[in-house]
Amino acid sequence: MNTPIVIAIDGTSASGKSTNAKLVAKALDYAYVDTGAMYRTLAWYCLKKRIDINNPKAVAAACRTWKTRLKRIDNHVRLLVDNYYPEKEIRSVEVSAAVPYIAAVPKVREWMKKLQRECTKFGNLVMEGRDIGTNIFPETEFKFYLDASLDERTRRRTSDGITENLEDRDMRDSRRSSAPLMISIGAIVINNSNMTSEQTSARILEEIHKKMESINQHKQTKD
Ligand code: C5P
Repeated sequence: MNTPIVIAIDGTSASGKSTNAKLVAKALDYAYVDTGAMYRTLAWYCLKKRIDINNPKAVAAACRTWKTRLKRIDNHVRLLVDNYYPEKEIRSVEVSAAVPYIAAVPKVREWMKKLQRECTKFGNLVMEGRDIGTNIFPETEFKFYLDASLDERTRRRTSDGITENLEDRDMRDSRRSSAPLMISIGAIVINNSNMTSEQTSARILEEIHKKMESINQHKQTKD
């Protein structure tokens, strides 16, 4: 069996990672994995269980003991806790503000890495997050980094009815010592401030097809 292909899409908050990762996954018929949702689920769980998010030991202990499993639902790979996917809850303002704290805990990142690498059991993947190209699948040949101006990203969040300090979250994600948000070596950077999601996903797909062709040509010349 061939090794599954992983398309890594990283980038800043509200840079269009989810929308574009979903469009690309649909076009290629790959499974879509939202790793941000996994960190959000742990933050939600800690808040619900009244675990102090500023106490890395307590957060790491929760991550070791919570009852989770991965499930593919409609081409999306979801992390369930006690057989439940807290779809709405993880988008709350409280969870958004708490998540960078739990995401900075090295033991949490170790746990997430193992889980996220396991997702290849569902086949080829489009995985979005902050450290997919740098840390989770550094070996993939398909790496993208999305960004847009802070004004544009704030406008996008506001039009979704969400008020959030994106600059603060990006700063915390970029400054943590464990797998910080950064541009991976070899990543194609797309600033989509003035692009629609159709244009952004078309650009990503174009680059994927180009790369696949060059990989195939390389294979043929070797055979
Ligand atoms: O992508 P989303 O905005 O849902 O991510 C929520 C938070 O989860 C990020 O701000 C970051 O703190 C954390 N995260 C992470 N690494 C990932 C994905 C998300 O640290 N791969």
